[in-house]
Amino acid sequence: MSENRWDALVVGAGAGGLCAAARLSNHGYRTLVVERLDRVGGRASTDEIDGFRINSGAVVIELGGITEQTFTEVDAKFEVRPADPPILYRINGRDVDVTSGGWGLLISQLTRHGAQLLTGIGAARADGGLPDRELSTADWVRRYTKHDAVQGIFRNMCGSIFAVGSEELPARVFLTYFTRKSAFKRFGFCPEGTIGMWKALAEVVERNGGQVWLDTEAERLTVEDGRVTGARIRRGGESLDVACDFAVSDIGPSATLDLVGPEHFPSDYIGTVLQGDLPCGMISVNFASREPLISAPGLLSFARTRRLCYVANFTATCPEMAPEGWHLYVGTGVPKPSIGDFDADAETALVLQDLREEIPDFEQARILSIAVTRDGWPPQRAVAGYDLPHDTPIPNLWNVGDAVKEYANGGTTACAETAKIVVDEIRRRHPVTSTPD
Ligand SMILES: Cc1cc2nc3c(=O)[nH]c(=O)nc-3n(C[C@H](O)[C@H](O)[C@H](O)COP(=O)(O)OP(=O)(O)OC[C@H]3O[C@@H](n4cnc5c(N)ncnc54)[C@H](O)[C@@H]3O)c2cc1C
Repeated sequence: MSENRWDALVVGAGAGGLCAAARLSNHGYRTLVVERLDRVGGRASTDEIDGFRINSGAVVIELGGITEQTFTEVDAKFEVRPADPPILYRINGRDVDVTSGGWGLLISQLTRHGAQLLTGIGAARADGGLPDRELSTADWVRRYTKHDAVQGIFRNMCGSIFAVGSEELPARVFLTYFTRKSAFKRFGFCPEGTIGMWKALAEVVERNGGQVWLDTEAERLTVEDGRVTGARIRRGGESLDVACDFAVSDIGPSATLDLVGPEHFPSDYIGTVLQGDLPCGMISVNFASREPLISAPGLLSFARTRRLCYVANFTATCPEMAPEGWHLYVGTGVPKPSIGDFDADAETALVLQDLREEIPDFEQARILSIAVTRDGWPPQRAVAGYDLPHDTPIPNLWNVGDAVKEYANGGTTACAETAKIVVDEIRRRHPVTSTPD
């Protein structure tokens, strides 16, 4: 079999691309992954700064959901160390664990008048109990209470899970997620940094006879008679043509459209893609200290911050993420507005102000990096509730990743889910034909 002829071509080695590639290769498809960067993981990768493992995007990985299921099915090493309890909420100066008490305990800590809000959550569990699509999460909360801290907690939950504020997230998405989905109830950190997850999947692809080509950019997907036939790629300074039976793109429908050429798509599809191309923004402050700065072993979230949604404490469970004697954290905030343009300097200043107020001795911490992720490198390529379809008008081309999430899902979990759905569809339409070497 020629190096340039594959069953499956996967463009992009992010969470969605590698979950798809690992599944495809595990089912016997000869799979090539091309990734333009020099490492895997995309927006869920890791950089090393002075011996600290700094995640460039995703921080926590869900346990017990579709991501873990993917790793089990393809026999990949799933190294996620659980944080227990996963999250504490700082309410009135105390860090409260609501793991066993759930919504009732959380809301009772915030306000004595929370009963109605609990009734609202209860109603959402019933068939037909979800609010209209237009109502924002903030407006839904306002129906029950005007309490600032309650609004603050809901805002920070929306930010942590969906990377948008509660004003921008439909209440229907929020309530669907918490009443009908796995909802990131248990999660942990990958000790190698989040990149470790995707390296394990890249190993599966190669073990199954596929390849992952780094520093390799897809310049064009070639289309003949309305079907993808391969790609023109740039590798080692040279252009090369590869042929494939079908292609899976992990770069978002909008970039995929450019890669194929809009002339190959009907105008209504182009309109849908351009309308749904709504990336949001996030601000992450990576910092370290010699003394522990928080006691929460996983995430610490807040009720009264301006922008800061959570601080993650990596070294409490994964000391190998920092040089000996150091504690490593990230504080993450969602800007206002969280969709569209925002003033990055002013919004970063507000995240830093929150960190100074919430984390005693933050002033003594060493700031390792501040990352503003937005535009072409967003925390979510589509706002939850406004996702695009994973299939395309080209019958052998699919999208995976966080622009084509299932309704009310988010992050790497959503990416793993899109990969399963797309690969199941591919198996129905393109049964394996190649014989092993
Ligand atoms: C700050 C931040 C915090 C987050 N926190 C969490 C969290 O704690 N938990 C969680 O689950 N999720 C989190 N997320 C979201 C999560 O990181 C993303 O949902 C997920 O990583 C998106 O993966 P993807 O597969 O959709 O695409 P991407 O990660 O964008 O992967 C696409 C890949 O395609 C490559 N590429 C692009 N164009 C080409 C081309 N022409 N040829 C070849 N390669 C190409 C890119 O380089 C990239 O590697 C966070 C994100 C950010 C930014």
